[in-house]
Amino acid sequence: MKCFEKAKKFFNFILDCLFPRCCTICNRKVDGDDYCNLCSSCIEKIPWIRGNKCYLCSRPLGDTEVSGEEKTICAECKANPPYFKSGMSCWLHKGVGRDIILTLKYRNADFLKNDIAMLLKRYCGEVCEFAKDSLLVPVPTSYFRRVKRGYNQAEVIAYAVAKIVNNASVVNMLRSKNKKSQTKLKRDDRLLNIKGTIECSTDSEGVSQDSRIVIVDDVSTTGTTVNECCRILQGAGFNNLHVLTLSYG
Ligand SMILES: [Zn+2]
Ligand SMILES: [Zn+2]
Repeated sequence: MKCFEKAKKFFNFILDCLFPRCCTICNRKVDGDDYCNLCSSCIEKIPWIRGNKCYLCSRPLGDTEVSGEEKTICAECKANPPYFKSGMSCWLHKGVGRDIILTLKYRNADFLKNDIAMLLKRYCGEVCEFAKDSLLVPVPTSYFRRVKRGYNQAEVIAYAVAKIVNNASVVNMLRSKNKKSQTKLKRDDRLLNIKGTIECSTDSEGVSQDSRIVIVDDVSTTGTTVNECCRILQGAGFNNLHVLTLSYG
């Protein structure tokens, strides 16, 4: 074991003695060498999306819908093609997967950034391939939500991804003009609510029309929000558009 790792282990041991860690999700004592905020039992229960899924929206497609094509696309995406070229969600929005998102959203838990980076690196290496050589653009949150929460959860996730991916940086190219929350609205109302509320600034440093842009959000339920972000960016001349969300469903 390298000297640095030994020192890190010892430092974590001291921290554990002084400030025993409790899991952010279930409140049980956290074990393990990684200084994280989730216990191993919760980490084991994360419902990662594995196997056959839609190339665009990540909808899990059991064996029945395998078409033999390299890029499997679900019926809904075929009927309503989105503005983005590919999409990826990491886990299903249920159980611990949902709990992590809600904690990030409503419990002032931007400290989960390191845990998310560690989880993705260890259990979802696909992300590193998907997001490399990209500009990571967080879905914006309304000004009031940002002030209330102190941070934008999509931006926290984007920085977590940037930590583990080669040659990716976070660029806040989108801004919300919206004052209301989307959470409690129905699908049709969401579309109406978000239309015209996002604006794009194209003068960010290092951004060119050919840049691979990955829109980052916490959860994709109907895909409406991320798709609207892509529509705005396409209108501004960007075509290499992709979408990454932590949770799906
Ligand atoms: Zn736990
Ligand atoms: Zn789909």
